Amino acid sequence: MKTYSTRAVDHPPAGRGGLPEDSRPSGMLRGVGEEAGHAGMTAQEIAQAVRSGRLSAGEVVEAALARARAAEDLNFLITLDEAGARAAAGRLDALLRSGGDPGPLAGVPVVVKDNILTEGLLTTAASRSLASFVPPLDATVVARLRRAGAVIIGKSNMDEFGMGSSNENSAFGAARNPWDRSRVPGGSSGGSAVAVAAGVVPLALGTDTGGSVRQPAAFCGVVGFKPTYGVLSRFGVIAFASSLDQVGVLGRSGSDVELAMMALAGPDPRDATSLPDNAFGTRQANGLEGVRIGVVTELSGEGNDPEVLEALGGTVAALEGLGAEVEEAELPASRYGIPTYYLVATAEASSNLSRYDGITYSRRIGENARGQAAVTMMSRGLTLGSEVRRRILMGTYALSAGYYDAYYGKALRVRRLISDDFERAFESFDLLLTPTTPGPAFPIGERSEDPLSMYLTDIDTCLPSLAGLPAISVPAGFTDQGLPCGVQLIAPPLGDSRLLRVAKALEEKAGAGFAPLAG
Ligand code: GLN
Repeated sequence: MKTYSTRAVDHPPAGRGGLPEDSRPSGMLRGVGEEAGHAGMTAQEIAQAVRSGRLSAGEVVEAALARARAAEDLNFLITLDEAGARAAAGRLDALLRSGGDPGPLAGVPVVVKDNILTEGLLTTAASRSLASFVPPLDATVVARLRRAGAVIIGKSNMDEFGMGSSNENSAFGAARNPWDRSRVPGGSSGGSAVAVAAGVVPLALGTDTGGSVRQPAAFCGVVGFKPTYGVLSRFGVIAFASSLDQVGVLGRSGSDVELAMMALAGPDPRDATSLPDNAFGTRQANGLEGVRIGVVTELSGEGNDPEVLEALGGTVAALEGLGAEVEEAELPASRYGIPTYYLVATAEASSNLSRYDGITYSRRIGENARGQAAVTMMSRGLTLGSEVRRRILMGTYALSAGYYDAYYGKALRVRRLISDDFERAFESFDLLLTPTTPGPAFPIGERSEDPLSMYLTDIDTCLPSLAGLPAISVPAGFTDQGLPCGVQLIAPPLGDSRLLRVAKALEEKAGAGFAPLAG
């Protein structure tokens, strides 16, 4: 187990993973501000450099595009939008020349998960059923990113409709983990995590229904933040399970994620579940003196890889060193998290995905088939992947008249118990701590034929999702094989900024200030 050190920044541990030597154009991967590179720069540094005129948005974007091309074999993007990115950078540079303010994310290159709508730019949710869908509008979060001066360079690879934990359920093939390309980057926001870990962009948008921002963040060694349900607008986000879906931010540091959140958060009249409160009005002070943190007993013992537990132990020591009081906390209903999540999520998915019938919506197959049922059967059967079809079947079953009470109804009652557990724990603690995942990134193919073992990787992350709570995965070191490990911190409703405060304090203590690059 290795923890972060300043030395680790810019060097993959143990010489494994990372971009292959031959795909490293010299001067591009490490050009922190020198030449046109930005790979080692934080979003804040880029925005400052662009606003002060030290770097142009055009230069930054060219470097990001070059890095994206160099890392192409990681298969982390579904669409690279070179023309759109150059045009946006050009507009920012023109605005700067005329004395305008391009915003707090001026010139910061970002990628957006491919289930978040981008006007005029292909948005597939990694599904064949949406393989040619070009949205007529931007999701609210995308509009806010653009307004803050960020430049979208592409749309990231993902598990189809967000259903998966490895990125292997993508119609465009699996993305690869930059620390070890024979392994998965996690999912479903795998491409976004890879983009940040490989230094293509300092910030990326993902979505998180049961862990899809936090789990790939842990597997790729970056920060992954899922806000309180309702803090970020879901308008223009392709629905998977509406009572769980949240947009989240991936970045290399807590401060960068905070910067993005300040631009993204806030009420949206176009999303009825968006909260009136904005938890991100001001930047948080650092320091953890007297903060009470509970390590969840049920999730931090048996069933975890020993190296993950070492990473957890290291984080506990670091938190104590920062003045936090760490004790054990209990979440007795946590053992029901996985079955509850997979009943609620599949039930909602079966309803949300009924629109992809080849008639009212999505790609149609079987023009000459007889009748609506035949067209729908062919369209759904041929354009939806096997995991998506499995979920629709499971969800439809759980909702069907004879089984509703026994499955869906029961899951809702257990969901309540899980929320109650959290409420009780937060009477004694300000924050809860768990591993983000029971193990580090697994080999591509290891679990793709075994849905249950895939589902089990969500054991820690699905719990705050069910309770609508904010949670963050922060890097906690590497295994001896050089694979990143993450730990998850969970806060009470609207305790979002508390999580970023802890992330920032841990980064400062580690010395580097941000996660190392995988290349
Ligand atoms: N891995 C979980 C699932 O497959 C979570 C996915 C997500 O958060 N979108 O449902």
